[in-house]
Amino acid sequence: MSAENYNNIRRIIFSTANNPAKGFQLAHEWLDSTYKVKLGPKGYSGLKAELNFYQRHGQEFKLTVAGDMGEHADFSGMYGSSATRFDVTTNIDYKKFTEYEPFMGSGIQYKVALYDKVNFEIVDVLDLAFPKCQGCGEHEIPFVALLGENFNRHGMPLMHNDQPTFSVCVGCQALQELERNIDYIPSPSEYFERHATGESEDSRVKSTEEYCLEQYKYFRRKFTDNLMGIASHNYKITDSNGGGYWSLDFNFQNRAVSNVLPLDIQCEHVI
Ligand SMILES: [Zn+2]
Repeated sequence: MSAENYNNIRRIIFSTANNPAKGFQLAHEWLDSTYKVKLGPKGYSGLKAELNFYQRHGQEFKLTVAGDMGEHADFSGMYGSSATRFDVTTNIDYKKFTEYEPFMGSGIQYKVALYDKVNFEIVDVLDLAFPKCQGCGEHEIPFVALLGENFNRHGMPLMHNDQPTFSVCVGCQALQELERNIDYIPSPSEYFERHATGESEDSRVKSTEEYCLEQYKYFRRKFTDNLMGIASHNYKITDSNGGGYWSLDFNFQNRAVSNVLPLDIQCEHVI
């Protein structure tokens, strides 16, 4: 069954369900009789699950049928007070976070509605990639910190830097070091001072942003597909006496999680 044929049948079934003169009963009848064989077992069970979700949860989640226009979801609606896209599935094992990632980040949440032949379980797409914090139950999201150059005890530069990978809980902000790389990879501020290209401040800032993105791609390949950001360690002055705090600040965040990651993470020691 081609995607085009599937979408044609899907359109007929949902138009029937939406038509007050026809409704869900007729939509189910047509799906179970006329279209079952045409759809094949996989297409049929997928569309049946979609129709059940629409029928049972349409009001609750204010669902409208999505139109296969690249939004990578079956329905749009509301989950609590958040605009949310819902993707219906009968097997969560086939769903990968990276499939949704390119479509996330514009303030719209993604949920997977998992149908177990009886009920639907609403699964946050972040559950597909990120473990839950034991303390507060929110997601733990990995990122790499590009630290400043290391010095020996005589103050001589060692020509290498540490790049620890941390996970941060987006709820309680608990940090956990997962791995540590040591290499000559300048921190973002070192890169800006020593290597950034361009005449103007703006173009050097842009060059540094590109550098951070390159490092992000590198460490994502090296450590984990689920790596979501690049950070650096900075002292933030908050009062006129020079008082303040150390924090990990994100130089780059993957858009898919930018609405849940904190702007900075208070953190005194990273070495
Ligand atoms: Zn937590």
